[in-house]
Amino acid sequence: CGIVGYVGHRQALDVVVEGLRRLEYRGYDSSGVAIISDDATLQTAKKAGRIENLDALLAERTITGTTGMGHTRWATHGAPNDRNAHPHTDTSGRIAVVHNGIIENFVALQAELEREGVEFASDTDSETVAHLVAGVLRRGEAETLADALRIVCRRLEGAFTLVLIDAENPDTVVAARRNSPLVLGLGDGETFLGSDVAAFIEFTRQAVELGQDQVVEIDRSGYRITDFDGRTVEGSPFTIDWDL
Ligand code: GLU
Repeated sequence: CGIVGYVGHRQALDVVVEGLRRLEYRGYDSSGVAIISDDATLQTAKKAGRIENLDALLAERTITGTTGMGHTRWATHGAPNDRNAHPHTDTSGRIAVVHNGIIENFVALQAELEREGVEFASDTDSETVAHLVAGVLRRGEAETLADALRIVCRRLEGAFTLVLIDAENPDTVVAARRNSPLVLGLGDGETFLGSDVAAFIEFTRQAVELGQDQVVEIDRSGYRITDFDGRTVEGSPFTIDWDL
């Protein structure tokens, strides 16, 4: 329901949790974060209920790293419990995904993955994306996370904003959008993603709106947007002029 992504020079956990708080007005039933830690491993924490519950879980852990993302969930597929909270990961724990919306054809995709031996850790439609992307990378069908996401997006039906991180590419965050909102925030040596500009308004006023059926790759120095076939497209830059 709310999405935040970050790569830059700050502690990603702080930026992401603060962004989720600013998106709180949307309503949600669980929340979670994934951070690529300094030793290039994926660290996730997620919890049903309010962000305070996630805060309590995070208070017991130290998660440092400058690339990460977070999610507040409004359950559509699977009960609002801890295991169905986002982020979802592939079996190897390399790829994490957060998702807003509904993957309409997830039953067929899940069946295909189960035939390949994948065991699902949640009841969500969203988890399929983590396994599909991991499979494309594992089989060498794509070089980069963005390439893999474009291939997978061409197979997805429904409405989605997706944000993914890959422990093997720790300085990049990748996202896709179809019929669900996604904006970028451009900072100095840092780049943000949000389902709404509220996610990053305290850090930058420079934003870029994504169009439908587009994939964006962000790093510390900026962004690159393409369509699902990999053709470069221009984003629509704007300045956020709200008062805080
Ligand atoms: N369909 C996904 C789920 O139920 C995402 C829900 C959302 O948009 O928060 O987990």
